[in-house]
Amino acid sequence: MSAAPTLAPERDPLEVLHSVFGHRAFRGRQEEAVRHVVGGGDAVVLFPTGAGKSMCYQVPALCRAGTGIVVSPLIALMRDQVEALRQAGVAAAALHSGLTSQEAFATRMDLREGRLELLYVTPERLASDGFLDLLSGVPVALFAIDEAHCVSQWGHDFRPEYLALAVLRDRFPGVPRVALTATADPQTRADLLDRLAMNDAAVFTTSADRPNIRYGIVPRDNPRRQLRDLLARHRGQSGIVYCLSRRKVDDTAAWLAEEGWRALPYHAGLDRAVRDANQDAFLREDGVVLVATIAFGMGIDKPDVRFVAHLDLPSSIEAYYQETGRAGRDGLPSEAWMAYGVGDVVQRRRMVDERDAPEEVKRVERAKLNALLGLCETAACRRQTLLAYFGEAHPGRCGRCDTCDTPVETWDGTVAAQKVLSAMVRTGQRYGAGHVIDVLRGVATEKVTRAGHERLPTFGVGQDLDERGWQSVIRQLVAAGILLVDHDEHGALVAGEDARAVLRGERPVALRRDPVFRAERGSGRRRDAARPAGIAGEGDDALFDLLRTERMRLAKEQGVPPYVVFHDTTLREMARLRPLDLDTLAAVPGVGEAKLRRYGDAFLEVIGRAIDQGLAAAP
Ligand code: ADP
Ligand code: ZN
Repeated sequence: MSAAPTLAPERDPLEVLHSVFGHRAFRGRQEEAVRHVVGGGDAVVLFPTGAGKSMCYQVPALCRAGTGIVVSPLIALMRDQVEALRQAGVAAAALHSGLTSQEAFATRMDLREGRLELLYVTPERLASDGFLDLLSGVPVALFAIDEAHCVSQWGHDFRPEYLALAVLRDRFPGVPRVALTATADPQTRADLLDRLAMNDAAVFTTSADRPNIRYGIVPRDNPRRQLRDLLARHRGQSGIVYCLSRRKVDDTAAWLAEEGWRALPYHAGLDRAVRDANQDAFLREDGVVLVATIAFGMGIDKPDVRFVAHLDLPSSIEAYYQETGRAGRDGLPSEAWMAYGVGDVVQRRRMVDERDAPEEVKRVERAKLNALLGLCETAACRRQTLLAYFGEAHPGRCGRCDTCDTPVETWDGTVAAQKVLSAMVRTGQRYGAGHVIDVLRGVATEKVTRAGHERLPTFGVGQDLDERGWQSVIRQLVAAGILLVDHDEHGALVAGEDARAVLRGERPVALRRDPVFRAERGSGRRRDAARPAGIAGEGDDALFDLLRTERMRLAKEQGVPPYVVFHDTTLREMARLRPLDLDTLAAVPGVGEAKLRRYGDAFLEVIGRAIDQGLAAAP
């Protein structure tokens, strides 16, 4: 049961949305959630990244009397959110261990004297007795629990400090609580409701789809060239490149830097100061490519990440979706790209096998890995396959994934699979893919002749495919579990469960024909990933760049990330509308009253100058 409304709302949600945040209308289920909380009800908000969860607590906090208390797990995240709110004219502050004692004291004074509309705190701070006592003495508008999946042991970011948040219900009866997260598979979600004592809360969900993200998964061929092609589509834009190991992060970042990109490494093995500086540069500068292990990303709120690349296979579809979900929070076209090869499958399987965990946990992890491999090898629409994994039906043919762009042909690979299996069996299941392929293709290498394998009946039976073709076959057979890779035997291929049935012709094998990389290098068919077409035409690009430069100048002046001044979406719209007066500028989404006063003239000036100089057409 939700608490009955106790306070009449002081401000209207739509008016707040408009005047403070500059948005014209609520999106999706935002309005329902907002009105529910403004009315005093508890809410669980499960929207995907970029859907606009923040409005679901920020607007109610401004509508209701008292201070909104926001629990957030990361100091860096808090800092940016507070800055963004201040820019919008909201009295916001944060309490965390990074403050001096004077700063913390001043913030507590502000809280006590009712000067704060929103206060961000870490979970451990909130749960401390002193702080709860302080809160008991002031009007609290609501509690917002951000990244609420952190309370669940099933989630991937479990934080024991979150468990203490269960006390809020008893200590502050009648104060609405909003729990928000983007990642809530059914298990995590049930656990979250339980642990936060929110089983009576209204739950607001929307589709997990991220329509502005284009998905692409390619067989790894020449990874550096493939990465270079990807980056070329995103010149001047921010992106993340994920690698599995620290060493690969270092090597890749160094190589990209040599190639002239502003690429910086991030992993847990770097000095804290270096790591922080690199993260800061990524957040504050335009066009930084951050090369990172998965140590990077939790709580990163940067809205204009235009691409997320995986150079190695993640552990599961959940992990893949969370990591790629960091692209395009602002709703503008963005790209999720992954290159993978058979080595990844082997490595990931080994990581599971070698984990010190109960067998049933490993079984779940293997199943999750297999689901991810299914996504990689599917000939169907990637979006459809992804959403199906999260229990959502999608009609397919999304038009924004590689398999929709270039439909994948499948072919009957039964005979090819039999050839591989027989070559493998006849060589004693002791050799890796390279040697087996040499035998199939009839290449008498020294290793082949030393073992006498040129005399086998399978020697040379595989002339019909080239080396890359056989690699593709073997990769898919490994992904399907028909072949296994024996780690103790230095990566030897051995027969998997269904191998016998395949050899006997009882199990047909359908394989995908790997798209040739021509498709990827293609002449601009994927250009829309780099240039948000339909939002701004090419003619607006020059003006957009000028507006970005102005934004960077204003951000630098204040030492804040550029996106707290205005998001790309707002600048795009400015470039399209080319307003010449404050009233017209106020109609641009993202331009609230405070920002209009603060920055309006500066941006009008840029637009006017661009028109005078013929860089942009008059509106
Ligand atoms: P989430 O926390 O769900 O990932 P955010 O709250 O950061 O998403 O919002 C994502 C983006 O959507 C931000 O750029 C925000 O300004 C924008 N946004 C949120 N609500 C609206 C709305 N009603 N109209 C227009 N833009 C919105
Ligand atoms: Zn598709």
